[in-house]
Amino acid sequence: MNSTRLLYYEDAYLKEFEAETLELLELEEGRGVVLNQTAFYPGGGGQPPDRGTLWTAEGEVKIRKAKMLPGGRVIHMFAEQAAPRIKVNQPVKGRIDWDYRYTLMRNHTAAHLMAEAVRQAVGEPVEIVGSGLEAKKVRIDFAYPSSTRPLFPKIEEIANKVVGENREVTVKIMERAEAEKYLEKFHESLRILPSHVKHVRVVEIEGWHACACGGTHVKRTGEIGAIKLLSRASKGKGVERIEFVASQKP
Ligand SMILES: [Zn+2]
Repeated sequence: MNSTRLLYYEDAYLKEFEAETLELLELEEGRGVVLNQTAFYPGGGGQPPDRGTLWTAEGEVKIRKAKMLPGGRVIHMFAEQAAPRIKVNQPVKGRIDWDYRYTLMRNHTAAHLMAEAVRQAVGEPVEIVGSGLEAKKVRIDFAYPSSTRPLFPKIEEIANKVVGENREVTVKIMERAEAEKYLEKFHESLRILPSHVKHVRVVEIEGWHACACGGTHVKRTGEIGAIKLLSRASKGKGVERIEFVASQKP
């Protein structure tokens, strides 16, 4: 069984690609095709999956989302109910919905950036307990016993300063023990990473924040554009949720 080469890890800015069909599958949620390589991000780490289009010899096929299957195979789920005319071992061209993905990339890097902005505004390394990305907004949940509303101007000021500094965003693969140590200085840990994972993909906003992450990111913080806080809410048990947008054009 062949796995899918993950082109989005080689180039997060890849919009179009060529591939070959490997398998046609019917899952509970519908039909789709596995490709030998793809630029479609299959979702994960809070980042939603990509959507887009494939072109085969028989015509155009709309893809509503990609999904990772066991064995490292990425299936591309057909948007239409009727199965398209598509065969295995056939060349295809693909294109992801780039506006959607690029917004998610900016939001994803913004979420990492904001983790440290919140910590600096609070004045101590609060623990981030969850996050969620949409194209329209980002949320972060963290341990904080009261309202962060009074801190909003400070958080925004810190965050937008780092956007303005246009810091580089890098990706490194590290041995687990090395990553564990490296992330300490950024107040991040590998606590929730399954113990069988031996190599860790570390995404760093240069000198600002680093954590283990499997998502796609912009190359520099300047691409994020202005970050604006939208709302806050207490989630109970000392967990505070903030929501923000980061998708205005820089
Ligand atoms: Zn991430």
